[in-house]
Order: sequence, then structure tokens, then C-alpha cells
Amino acid sequence: ARGDVHAEVVVLGSGPGGYTAAFRAADLGKKVVLIERNPSLGGVCLNVGCIPSKALLHAAKVITEAEEMAGHGIAFDTPVVDLDKLRGWKDSVVKQLTGGLSGLAKGRKVQVVTGTGRFTGPNMIEVERDGAKTSVSFDQCIIAAGSEPVTLPFIPHDDPRVIDSTGALELDGIPERMLVLGGGIIGLEMACVYDALGTRITVVELMDQIIPGADKDIVKPLHKRIEGRYEKILLKTRVTDVKAGDDGLTVTFEDEKGATTTDTFDRLLVAVGRRPNGKLIGAEAAGVAVDERGFIAVDSQQRTNVPHIFAIGDVVGQPMLAHKAVHEGKVAAEVAAGQNRHFDARVIPSVAYTDPEVAWVGVTEAQAKAEGRKIGKGVFPWAASGRSLSLGRSEGITKVIFDEADDRVIGACIVGPNAGDLIAEVALAIEMGADAVDLGHTIHPHPTLSETVNFAAEMFEGTITDLI
Ligand code: FAD
Repeated sequence: ARGDVHAEVVVLGSGPGGYTAAFRAADLGKKVVLIERNPSLGGVCLNVGCIPSKALLHAAKVITEAEEMAGHGIAFDTPVVDLDKLRGWKDSVVKQLTGGLSGLAKGRKVQVVTGTGRFTGPNMIEVERDGAKTSVSFDQCIIAAGSEPVTLPFIPHDDPRVIDSTGALELDGIPERMLVLGGGIIGLEMACVYDALGTRITVVELMDQIIPGADKDIVKPLHKRIEGRYEKILLKTRVTDVKAGDDGLTVTFEDEKGATTTDTFDRLLVAVGRRPNGKLIGAEAAGVAVDERGFIAVDSQQRTNVPHIFAIGDVVGQPMLAHKAVHEGKVAAEVAAGQNRHFDARVIPSVAYTDPEVAWVGVTEAQAKAEGRKIGKGVFPWAASGRSLSLGRSEGITKVIFDEADDRVIGACIVGPNAGDLIAEVALAIEMGADAVDLGHTIHPHPTLSETVNFAAEMFEGTITDLI
């Protein structure tokens, strides 16, 4: 049956995965319909994720750098924060990008249907907006429905003082004391922003380190720096109760020995992870299998168990990152257009855009140890990098991991300002099968932080004798 609208390829969700897939399929000649429930395109990443958080992190960095320059002979007054203006600037960055996407969709004749889509059959999605329904029939479909923040049963999420990352990015005030529940990337990025704006921060994390995905030695410089700025960092501690009272949110903490304490905060940021939206799209009507957590399993061509329906991005699994969604989106679109493509990335880099940044790619040292893999490593401390010192920073570390058998690069963990930019070189090295000599003999520009990757390889090779 034909719907009100027919698409050769329909894409459900317009995040980085969805818009990439829609544009690529259109470029390959397909008639594409893009369904999005939000009035603006771009998904979590552009509207309430990667982009607004980075704009605020930039503001935070300017504030803390200005503070620290006092120690090097340039003193500024206490910054005056005009929250409305800062929010306006952040919103304008988002708007520029989401508006750009609308233009790109128009240019490619991708038809955007606004509303919430649900499958009503294997070739039909019904889109609802304010009670009005539009049926979209399709030959092929790409599900890019993304994810949403996890909520916890004992937390009063309806209290306005309890916020998630979206609430934190709204910047509706500068709380005096905020508890950040979850010491992962999203929680710590937001902590970094509010700390710079003047909030006293406590971070609580269940694991024995912050940023649990990265190696402990690499996370240490970040831990040390924020320990000096924040009120408290509680590790191996769980929050067991949150009571909303007139004088604040009273939180009960339980440490690893079972001892409990309480403290009262005026804001609680819950950043304990994200859950996929797979259960919210009526997938059963199309016969698409969704697991109990809401993830949709796919093969290396991004196909679900239903051959003409693909899925990409956060809804198919970890890591929930925009660049992974984008690459999966391209694969799905190209396969839908008849090309023979597979998602075969060897590695997907992860970055915490905290200050300092923490970035890692491929095998971590902890992972190699757990798997009993024989590895070698080159570790270069940034205290010996002229460029780092001239930025007024010395705590960074670049660690590159090599396969002991053939010296090939298999991973890296970097901490320091701009670590997120530096990790891309190692990702390329791994994709290209480069070894320690390749990294060590490639001439890097001096003085840059990129040299630290080169030096780490030389440390492994034993060809650096002195650190200057
Ligand atoms: P999403 O971006 O989640 O988009 C899904 C879209 O589908 C949404 O627009 C949603 O409205 C729509 N949708 C869902 N269901 C329906 C339906 N039934 N009908 C119609 N529309 C529907 N990643 C990075 O790589 N780098 C970062 O720096 C980074 N920072 C982040 C910061 C924060 C605060 C957060 C929350 C996330 C961050 N992420 C970051 C993660 C990144 O945002 C996600 O991995 C990425 O957005 C996933 O893209 P996606 O296409 O899978 O889905």
C-alpha cells in the first residue's frame, strides 16, 4: 500500500547518523524522506549534545586560562558572566548548524516530515504531529532514532533542581553547589563548564576512577586538576537516595564498605549514561528485533533482521558517539543504494573534552592486560614538551601502545590540552597498519603538541636519549 508520502529510502531520526544517511542516499539518486519529531534537524549532537557543550566548554576554557595567566604576569578582573548572552551565543552556534542542515536537505530534495514516527507495518511508518497523521510508505528504511538520558527510579526527576545534560546545557542559572552523578565524559564536561562559571562541584562515581573507559595513569592528571578545583570527587561510591526538600536536594551516599553519609545540594546533574530509543518506534510492527535494553542488532552492512530495514548510530550500540553514527550512516545509505559497503572501522576514538582533555583509541593498556596481550608502550610526559610548557601546562601524557610481535601501533591514550585533536593521528596510524618506526620517522612540526605522538614512538624505539 502507498502512504500519503512515498520514499525509496526513509530515514527515521535526523541526528548525525540520520542526516548523513539521508544526504548520502539522496546523492546516490534515491528519493529520500527524513522523519524528525523535533522542529530542528541535527538530533542530540547538534541541539543538545556535542555542539552546545563544546561552545560552553570554550567559554569555560577562556575563564580558567584568564585566571591562570595571573600567575604568569597578566591579571584580569573577575569575569562578569552575562548568562543570557552566553546562552544566546551557544544557541546561535546551534542554530547556524541546524539551519545549515535544513538548507542541505532542501538542496538535495530530501523531504523532511516533522512528527513522531512509528512503524505500522514492514513498509509503512505513521508520523504524528499534534494529532495529525501522515503515513509514509517506503521501499527501504534506515532507523536512526538515537538515545536519551538514563533516569534512576529513586531520583525525583520531576523536580526542576534535578537536571540531565539537556537541562545543564539550558544554562538557566549558576547553582551554588551541584552534585554531578556520574564521572563519565558527559558529567565531567558539564562539571568543567559549571566550575568555571563559579559553581562548587562534587562528582560521585561508582567505579574506582573517573572516565572509566580510559587508562588510570592517563586519567590521573585530569583527576588531580579537578580535585584541586572541585569540592569533592567521590569514587567507589553510590547514590542510594535523593530527597527533595525546601532547602535543597538531600543525597545519601554509600561507600564501598556500606557506610552512608548525606549532603545537601541545590542542583543535581544526573549523567549516568544513555539508553537507546529502539523501544519507542513500534519496531515490532515491522518485525525488527529490539533487545530488552532497546538496542537493535545489525550486521556489518547495518542491516537489521529485516533485510530492507537498516539501523545506525546510538540505537545500534556502543560507543554512542556522533562520528560512529556518521560512518554507519554512510554505509547504510550506500548499501541501500545498491553498493557493496561494510562498516569495518578498526578503531573508533573517544574524547572527553574536559580540561585537560582525555582521548583514547584502540587498545588501552588496561584492556591489553586483561586480555593477556603482549604489548609495548612509549610514554612521553608533556613536562618535556616545549609547546606544552609555553601554554602554561605541564601535566599532559601521550602513551602509544604497540603490538610486541611486530611493533605495530594498536592504541593510544592521551591527556592534555587538545588531546582530542592529537588522537586522530593515531587512529590513522592504526587504520594504515603503521608501526613505531613510521610514527617515529615522520617529521612532525615543531613546536607542536603533535610532536608528543612522534616522541612517544621514539621513546618506545629507544631513539630518544634526552628529554628537553
Ligand atoms: P541522535 O543524535 O540521538 O538523533 C536521533 C534523532 O531521532 C533525534 O533528533 C530524535 O528526535 C529523533 N527521533 C527519535 N525517535 C523518533 C521518532 N519515533 N520519530 C521521529 N524522530 C525520532 N558524541 C561525540 O561524538 N562527541 C561529543 O563531543 C559528544 N558530546 C555529547 C554531549 C552530550 C551532552 C550528549 C548528550 C551527547 C554527546 N555525544 C557526543 C553523543 C552524540 O550526541 C550521539 O552519539 C549522537 O547524537 C548519536 O547520533 P544518532 O544519529 O544515533 O542519534
